[in-house]
Amino acid sequence: MPKKDKKKERKDKKNVKKTNDAAAAAAITAALLQCNISPQPMPKGDTILSDEIEPNLLSKWPKLRLKVPPIFLHQPVDFEHYVKKILNKGIKFYQPNRGKVYTRIMCETFNDHKRLTQYFDKEQIPYHTFGNPTKRKMKVVIRGLPEALDLDEIKETLKSNSIPIIRLHKMKTGEVRRDNSMLVLAVVPHDEKGKHILRVKQLLGHKVVLEPPRDKPKQCYRCQKWGHSQRYCHGQVKCVKCGENHLTQRCQKKPEERPKCANCKETHTASFRDCVYTRGSYDYSLMQFLGLLKPCFKPRVLVTDDNYTTLYRNVDYDKKKTKTL
Ligand SMILES: [Zn+2]
Ligand SMILES: [Zn+2]
Ligand SMILES: [Zn+2]
Repeated sequence: MPKKDKKKERKDKKNVKKTNDAAAAAAITAALLQCNISPQPMPKGDTILSDEIEPNLLSKWPKLRLKVPPIFLHQPVDFEHYVKKILNKGIKFYQPNRGKVYTRIMCETFNDHKRLTQYFDKEQIPYHTFGNPTKRKMKVVIRGLPEALDLDEIKETLKSNSIPIIRLHKMKTGEVRRDNSMLVLAVVPHDEKGKHILRVKQLLGHKVVLEPPRDKPKQCYRCQKWGHSQRYCHGQVKCVKCGENHLTQRCQKKPEERPKCANCKETHTASFRDCVYTRGSYDYSLMQFLGLLKPCFKPRVLVTDDNYTTLYRNVDYDKKKTKTL
């Protein structure tokens, strides 16, 4: 028999086998259906990842800078009185930026930051700061998945594609989506591995669009100031309802009594959206524009034994109102 024919014979045999297999599978499915046993679930669609992260997509998330987080003091402090004490402890920090609301202090290293915050805790100076950037998380909204899809399955699929998922949950959107789709929020570590989630183009057969969550104005539940969370707050506890120095849960304000804002002292709660301190309100933007909220930024000067007296010589704070240590 010529070589070509042999090959053809083999191919024919293979095709017969394939047809037989398909027929057998169909017969089994039919039999199962008759017995009222459901056949195997439909195979899920593919998950496709692009080779690289598109720079345009990545630029939508803030860059992770491994800088030491700033410390914001909540009250004006008479620096002359305590700078020397901090220097004696060997803590390295830069010349503070004094604003109307906060005094911003940057430390040289993470260890200096830790020691300075411990010092402020001990001296009971109210402040807030932020978490270590290496422990930051990245939040990604996934659009385009049908509501019927199982969250655990999504999580497993992403994990099997080497994407480390910390948390995954369905987002409440408050609107009925006509296309039966849902928004899923995925939380990944803010590092090289976590960023791989941005390579996902198709998830279990569904084309997806990834985007950062909309940034909501953040109010601290502890001190009621805006722009930080209670987790890293060491500020004075304030009540959202009456503005007094107690936790909101402990408030004894009667419903008929008027609220008092902890920030502007007007008759509204501290979370009132039109308060001049509320981030996003027109007045807040105006105050920010005029530089009344944020400290002005000067070039960094490391405070030393040699320069600290000259750095604070012409400070124009009201000494009666400041805390001395
Ligand atoms: Zn706070
Ligand atoms: Zn209260
Ligand atoms: Zn207010």
